[in-house]
This record gives sequence, structure tokens and C-alpha cells, in this order.
Amino acid sequence: MPTRPNNKNIDALHFDNSFVRELPSDPESENYRRQVYQACYSHVNPKPVKAPRLVAYSQDMADTLDLSATECQSDRFCQVFVGNQLLDDMQPFAMNYGGHQFGHWAGQLGDGRAINLGEIINSQNQRWSLQLKGAGPTPYSRSADGLAVLRSSIREFLCSEAMHHLRVPTTRALSVILTGEQVMRDMFYDGNPQWEPGAVVCRVAPSFTRFGNFQLFASRDDLENLQKLVDFTLRNDFPHIGEPSKANYVHMFTEVCRRTAEMIAHWQRVGFVHGVMNTDNMSILGLTIDYGPYGWLENYDPDWTPNTTDAQGRRYRFGNQPAIAYWNLVQLANALYPLIQKAQPLQDALTIYTNTFEQAWQRMMADKLGLMSFNPATDETLVADLTKLLQAAETDMTLFYRDLATLGQEDQSEDFFQHLETCSYQALSPENQALAGVWFDSYQARLNHDNRPHHERQQSMNAANPRYVLRNYLAQQAIDLAEQNDFSEVQELLEVLRHPYTDQTGKQRFAEKRPDWAKQRAGCSMLSCSS
Ligand code: AMP
Ligand code: MG
Repeated sequence: MPTRPNNKNIDALHFDNSFVRELPSDPESENYRRQVYQACYSHVNPKPVKAPRLVAYSQDMADTLDLSATECQSDRFCQVFVGNQLLDDMQPFAMNYGGHQFGHWAGQLGDGRAINLGEIINSQNQRWSLQLKGAGPTPYSRSADGLAVLRSSIREFLCSEAMHHLRVPTTRALSVILTGEQVMRDMFYDGNPQWEPGAVVCRVAPSFTRFGNFQLFASRDDLENLQKLVDFTLRNDFPHIGEPSKANYVHMFTEVCRRTAEMIAHWQRVGFVHGVMNTDNMSILGLTIDYGPYGWLENYDPDWTPNTTDAQGRRYRFGNQPAIAYWNLVQLANALYPLIQKAQPLQDALTIYTNTFEQAWQRMMADKLGLMSFNPATDETLVADLTKLLQAAETDMTLFYRDLATLGQEDQSEDFFQHLETCSYQALSPENQALAGVWFDSYQARLNHDNRPHHERQQSMNAANPRYVLRNYLAQQAIDLAEQNDFSEVQELLEVLRHPYTDQTGKQRFAEKRPDWAKQRAGCSMLSCSS
């Protein structure tokens, strides 16, 4: 493979738009809302905006794309990544997909406010798709405007990068840019719409294909195009599996099951709640995608969902994420079935999801607690009793696990009470104190059994238990300032979250309990899909 000159500027980017080149397109080129049949995408250009202004960019992502810091701060960068200027080799398009929303088939959805610019091959020979979110309407915008507001764009930008550094598989973000235009939003669907600043995020991923891309063709009995898309995905996103065949379709689905299981285990490890696990929001690569009304667990509560739209059924609550991912995989299996025509291998792959998740979860819990390995005979109870305690005491999940590593075999119950009280949102009731005493005794007995050197245990716990996560209220504070044209807090959060497992001097304020005011404040604990 010839090496390309690496000029680190936008015009040296090398595009290879395989999705557009190899898959069937919508012949209609007018941009109006419609049902699109027998096509994987529609050509559509971003809508130019008045006064773009850079809010933030990720130098890590820019490095991966071979873009220098100078380039990212240039006017050209701002114009290109807000959608005002297209590079010669860009071929913008919106994807066509469907999905199950909250358990019900919703038909065609598609990229209603995402416009793909093309696929970059970087100097490492990696393929990265660029996508603008909030760059104007597409044929898939249905009754909405195709735009995004600053608050949700900052949330997506920061969380993508934070998740990446937490080692959670995720789509990435290159930039967030104000459009200089106002967007009307009814944040809580309560009849109080307001003007908000509009913004565009440039998202980046090896591929943005979702479960729903396959589901849409299957739902329309369009097996010809279903097969085209599956073959393309196999060749491009799973090239190590081999050429298209029924057996390799099964291999691919098995790998999707495995990757999804690993992604969900990571979510449970760091306390991330996606909030809208509809099948159109599930990536075929097992990446976290579509950051909307997501949230981070503060007080440990498996029933918590940040999404007010889901407050009734709590379908997407923290503790239900593993089961929902399985449900979503079943929908994908149904979509692939016509090409495979045997249920058993698909069922076997789903069992692999269950087993992979179980193993990943056990490994993850052992790491969080500093155990050498997970012994179901003793550790199932140890974890179950702990989660009961954390829930009863309303304990901050991130703080609890991180500082549990400071306690050792010699510590007394009182030290543990102290730790628990420091991390909890409630004072310890006598009942919880009793529970805590019993739990700490069995934890210490378990550590004695492993007899692992303290520093070794602490090191491994610190690699599993982040010090810094994107606490809901921290994101909101950064947004409040950004809405006043002060982007410093977005910068600072981005920087701190690059090293979430390292204690950073002077950054204590990013690793504290949620303040009382944040418990009921909109954007901090309650979010809606309106963004
Ligand atoms: P989500 O639940 O945010 O993933 O969105 C579900 C569907 O609604 C997707 O097809 C989105 O593209 C579409 N959508 C969400 N917000 C907008 C918007 N402001 N304009 C157009 N389409 C949107
Ligand atoms: Mg979506």
C-alpha cells in the first residue's frame, strides 16, 4: 500500500466512499420527506448556516484523522465540519433504516438529522466515516427539522470522547460547532417551546450501520437489497470473516452478539445508561451510538432511567440494559433469518450473547472488587448483597468503587462505614449499618482468601473503576456556560475525561458527589428525546 503524504490538513484527506459506491441509492435527488424503497441511502447536502463558530474539537480524534491543531482551529475546518463547504471527494448522503422504538416496530426512520460526508482512509490505513449531526433536513426527517441544539451536541461530543477513554466501544466525535442560528425546542414536551442555539457535531466511526438498516429491508420483504447490505457489511465491517455465504452470515451475527455483550458489560461497569436502546440506535459493530437522553448513575439504582420519555415503563433502565440488548439482537436475528433460513444457528449465537455477557460481567465485577477471579459459589452473593446495600444507602457508584480500593484486609468495619457514608446521599440507617458490617466482613474474608498484595489489588481496581465520569450535572454546568459563549468548561471536562482512571491534581471537583440542587434540575437528572 503506497504511503500518502501526511500534510495534516483538510485538503489532504483521502476519501474512499464505499457505502455510496457499492450500495443501491435512492434515484430521487430532491430533498423532501418520503418513504424510500429499495435503497440504502439518499444523496443530500448539508444546509448552509449563517455564522459557524467552533465550540470544541477533540485533538485525539483529529490526530487519528491526520488533522493538525492549527487546521482544526482554522476557518476552513469550521466551514467544512458545520456543512457549509464540501471537500471535492465528499459525497454526502443520509442512510435509510427502520427500527423498533420502545418495543414497537416503527417502520422507516433513517438519518433524519445526520448527513454522512464520506469515508476517510487515514495514514494508518484505517477507514473512518464522517457524519454531521444537526446539519439540516433529509428525506428521513419526517415531521422534524433536521437540526440539533447546543446542549445535546455538547452532551454527544463530550460523552463520545469520555466513553472512548473509558475503554467503552463507541462512536467518536471530532468537533462541535455553533451554527449561529436559533432552533425551537420544547424540551419537556410541555407546551413551552423556546429558542435555543443550534449546533452541529461531527461524529466519526468505522461504520454507522445499525440493526435497523437490515430490519427495514426485511420488513419490506426486499431480500435482494437485504442481501446486498449484508454482503457489503460482511466484506467491509467484518473482513476477517470471509466471503458471503450462509455460514459466514451466521459468523457475522455471532460476532455482533459477542461485541454487543462486551459493550453492555462496559456500560454496567461504568454506570452508563443509554436511555433509548431502540434497534435503530444499535450499532452493527457493537459501538455505543446516538447519545441522546443518556445518563450516568449517581446513587446506585438499577431501576433508574434518565429518559423522561421512558419514565412510565422504564424499559431502558440501567438494570434492564443487558436484557434489552438481547431483545434487540433477536430482532436483528429475525431480519437476517430469510438469508439463513435456519433458526438454530441464530439461536446458538443468541446463547453466545448470554454467555459472553455473563462471563464479561463476572470478570468485570471481579475487577471492580479487586478479586483475582469470579467464583460464582461465593461471589454471586457477595455482589448481590453489595448492590442491595448500595441501593438502600443511595451510594454514589463511581465514588464507592474507586475508593473501595483504599480499604484493605486490616481495616475495621468503622473504616468501611466511614467510606460508605462519605459516598452516600443518605445517612446510614442502623439497618444499613448492620448490612454494611456483614458485607464488609465477607468481603474481607474473600480478600484474605485471594491473599493478593494490596498495591496489586489497588492497581487492578483502579483500572476498572474510573475516578472521573461525565456526571450529569458537570455536563450541564459546561452547557450553561457554553450557552453564554464561555467554552472553557467544555474544554476542561474534555481534558479531564481523557484520563479517567488517573487521579489528577487540582481536578477534585470533577470527582465529587452530585450537589443537592442537581437532583431535580432539568438536564441533570431528567432528560427527554427533544434535542
Ligand atoms: P433518536 O431516538 O434520537 O435516535 O431518533 C429517532 C429518529 O428520529 C431517527 O430517525 C432520527 O434521525 C429522527 N430525529 C430525531 N430528531 C430529529 C430532528 N430534530 N430532525 C429530524 N429527525 C430527527
Ligand atoms: Mg437514533
